[in-house]
Parts: sequence; structure tokens; C-alpha cells
Amino acid sequence: MDAERREAPCSGDEDTLRREGVFFMYCKLLSAIVLGVEGKLIEVEVDIAAGLPQVNVVGLPDPAVRESIDRARAAIQNAGMKFPLDRITVNLAPADMRKQGSAFDLAIAAGILCASGQMPQDELEGALIIGELSLNGDVKAVPGVLAMAENARSGGLRRVYVPPASAHEAGLIEGIEVKSVASLADWIRGRSGTNASSQPVETAQIGEPALDASPDLSDVSGQLQGKRALLIAAAGMHNLLFLGPPGTGKTMLCRRLPSLLPPLADEEALEVTKIYSVSGKFQGARAGLIRARPFRAPHHTISTSGLIGGGPVPKPGEVTLAHRGVLFLDELPEFGRSALESLRQPLEDRHVTIGRARGVTRFPASFMLAAAMNPCACGYWGGDQTEQPCTCSAGSLARYRARMSGPLADRIDLQVEIPRQPVSFGGRRNVVRRSEGKAGRRIRTAAAALCRSRNSVEQRAVGTIVGRSRKACERRGGAFDRHV
Ligand SMILES: [Zn+2]
Repeated sequence: MDAERREAPCSGDEDTLRREGVFFMYCKLLSAIVLGVEGKLIEVEVDIAAGLPQVNVVGLPDPAVRESIDRARAAIQNAGMKFPLDRITVNLAPADMRKQGSAFDLAIAAGILCASGQMPQDELEGALIIGELSLNGDVKAVPGVLAMAENARSGGLRRVYVPPASAHEAGLIEGIEVKSVASLADWIRGRSGTNASSQPVETAQIGEPALDASPDLSDVSGQLQGKRALLIAAAGMHNLLFLGPPGTGKTMLCRRLPSLLPPLADEEALEVTKIYSVSGKFQGARAGLIRARPFRAPHHTISTSGLIGGGPVPKPGEVTLAHRGVLFLDELPEFGRSALESLRQPLEDRHVTIGRARGVTRFPASFMLAAAMNPCACGYWGGDQTEQPCTCSAGSLARYRARMSGPLADRIDLQVEIPRQPVSFGGRRNVVRRSEGKAGRRIRTAAAALCRSRNSVEQRAVGTIVGRSRKACERRGGAFDRHV
């Protein structure tokens, strides 16, 4: 029986094949899933055999993958094609890996059409097919197309078929032909030569780094100690904690930290853009890769899973979204104890490993931690007690301080008090901006070298360079301060 098994010919007529006694038709295409923040190629095999009409999907599919058969059936029929009334088996290989999501829809529908001789297979060989089908045959976007397209290129594939909404995202990967498929009907008509359906997409232009739109230090008057701490932290990618009474500008200063950091290098930009693509948060593909360093400021009610990543199918958390950038925790003691303690591993290892019954997922998490907190629960401990006295008891003070554990405090290199600033009007704002430009350039260069070399064997050597640069920056910080 196996001897009769053969691949469906490209221009096969189903009735002719049946008359010849060939009831076994087979087709193999390629699709992909996302594991962590990396793509993984999946073989979609479709076998059509004579028998009672039924469809079996094997290869550890989750419910969304099983339902793709119903979407594919409706889409094929609404595209004017015939859904075979035979015994259909769809295998997703490797079979020992759990498959989730709706990215297989288009490949399964194309596989059924190819195996039943309604669509030629030759052009689909060596191509990656990604997309979710709606019942009328339209192809909808799926998250993680950038990671899947990059994996396809690494796997030696020449072409990728993607939904129109994801086409420019896939186009960010050079060296692979991107074709957008708007609907199954158009795709089939294009293949029969009556209409050009799958439109090639030009590789998106990866332009110069965009100017950072985040606020900078030019509009900050005074705050000498805070500014100097920001410069030193930015130069060495040091973790930073600002302590001070409410309203002294801790949050305002931290939000200006990204303006001191260098833009992402090409490799880093691809890495960060992949993370946002996988998370479904990347909308600006036409503008190219993400170039500004991420700045994430989650609310203190965030759960441990939200911060670290998690879920039945692990998704990146805030520490991964802040990869190569800044994670800002305002009101640090208000965060949950377990959430704060869970930061210890990524702060040390620069990645997060999440174990689930389905397997272990590893997410990158090389971020700079910036935090702000009050000195006590009422906020006025250590300040001018005649103006605003602290009302906390000794026990309350101890409990408040204990919310940040010793091991976490050990990982924060710079812990700086931000005192209440005297009220002043006017200032020399532009002078600050000019001198920040001179010192800032050196800081950006040093920080960029450190960001790239973190976790590498060259860390020690670059650490020395950065150490020297930091001293230079400190000297410049002094000069910088004098201009204020
Ligand atoms: Zn107090």
C-alpha cells in the first residue's frame, strides 16, 4: 500500500487520479511557532486517504490548532474550492512538541488544497506559510512573524507567505522574499494565473536611529545630585534607587534616564523588536526596527507573572520587555514581596527561565533597574521635621524598610537621596542642554559598549574601559553641575 503512496502532482486532476486508483495523496509544507522569543519551523503534513469523511490533527495540537480545521474548511469552501470528503490526517512535526496558536491555519488550508490537487505545490516548497484564516478566507495577522521569518532565513528558506498586516514586519529580515496573502481566494486565483495575488513586499527600509522623543534633562532645574546619579548610572548601566519625600522629583528624574542612553545597535534592535513582535506590541513595522531603548514602568499592583513572564504558554513579562533598556519601579516598597524577590534571578543572570508542565522557556532580561521610594510610609522621615514631621512609629518604619529585602538592595549599585528642592523661578535651561550633549556623547558610547558586551567574555575588559569612562563622566558630571 505504501508503494502507491506518492505526492500529489502539481497539476493533478482529482478524478483522473481516482480513476487510476491513487487514493493516497500527500503534501508537506512549512509553518512556524514561537518558543520564548525565537521562531521554530514546523512541518505541516497533510494526507488524504479514501475512507469515511473525517479530519484528524496529530502532533500535540492545542484547541486553537484543532479549531483551525473548521476555519480552513469554511475558508476553502468560501473561496470556491472543494473541501475533500475523505479521511484527512494533518500531522504537525516534530510530533513531541506542543503546538499552540492560529498561525498554522493558512498552511493547513494550503496543504489540504495541494494534497487534493486543487493547488500546485512546487512554489510552496522551500517557503514558510504563516497566517490565521477567517471564515470568509481573509488572512489575519499573528504575533511573532519577525521571529518566525528570521528562523526561516536561518533555516535556508527562500520565501515567506504572510498576512498583509505582518508583511512589513517580515520584510525587516533581509535575504528572504516576502509575499503578502490577503485572502485564500485571491491566492488560489493568483496561482491559476488569472490574478496576481500574493504581492511581494519590499524589504522595509531600516533607517537611521530615530531621535529619542523621551524627555531629557534640559528642562530640569537644580537636582544636582539626582542628575549626577543618572549620568553615572547611564554610563555604567548601574541599577539605581532614588530615596526621598514625595514631590521631590524622583519619578521625574527617572523618566529622563532613557534620554542619556545610546540608541540600540543593529543586533540589539532586532532582538528588542522580536520581543515586542512576539508580545503583539509591535505596530510600527513600516518605520523599521525599534531603535530607542525600552523604558517600562509597570504599576505596583503588577503580579509576579506580569513582571517576570508566565501563563500556561509563557509570555514575556515586563523584565523581558525592558530588555536592553530600563525597568522603572516607582514606589518600590508597594510592589508585592514575591514580585520584587523574583527580580533577583534576572538581575543576576540577565535572563529568566520559566518552567511549565509543557516545557521550559527562557526569555532574555538584561535590563537596568531604576526605582524610587519614600523613606517611610508617611514619606517625611529624615526631612525638615519642623515643616512636615514624620508620623511613623519605629515599628512601622522597620516594616516599611523590610519590604525591600537585603539581597535585592545588594543588587542596586547606586542608592541616592533626593532632598526637597528649594523653590526657584527661571533658570539657564539651554546651558544645561548643551553641556549634557558633550558629556552625554561619551556616556552613550561607553554605555553602548557595556550593553553589547554584557554576559560576554569581554565584559571584564570593557568594564575597565567603562570604569575609566565613568570617572571621566563623573568629572564631566562635575563640570556639568557647575553650569546649572
Ligand atoms: Zn514617616
